[in-house]
Amino acid sequence: MNPSDFDERRELQAACHCKAVRFRLVLTNGLRSARRCNCSYCSMRGAVAVSANLEDLHVLQGADKLTLYQFNTGQAKHYFCSVCGIYTFHSRRSVPTQYGVNVSCIEGLSPFDFGEVPVSEGRDHPMDRNGASLTAGWLSYRANTES
Ligand SMILES: [Zn+2]
Repeated sequence: MNPSDFDERRELQAACHCKAVRFRLVLTNGLRSARRCNCSYCSMRGAVAVSANLEDLHVLQGADKLTLYQFNTGQAKHYFCSVCGIYTFHSRRSVPTQYGVNVSCIEGLSPFDFGEVPVSEGRDHPMDRNGASLTAGWLSYRANTES
């Protein structure tokens, strides 16, 4: 899937790995919002996230399977499936009106569709430096075209 062929304005279907949790969403700023973050939690989680406004994401199935993880200030709410362990989405501390959503959960998308993904500076949180968001760097993926 080439991101430029992906209709990012339509309603998207999403699910965790075991499909216990299903949700639908509309992206806020399309695939342009794709990013990673280098905070202590996101570094371990390793997911590429895109943005959706809170009111544009609806859990269709398995809300009772979602487990909530909070740390530090506890403002961000990180949800993952209690069956398969896959991160689905999280409400943000930096933009409380939005969810970050695991692109891997979205039907037709994978992290390997992105040649380059910006990494947000999350080691000191934007809210701890007057809300300014910084880019720490970029992660790139290059498909092996010789195999
Ligand atoms: Zn699951």
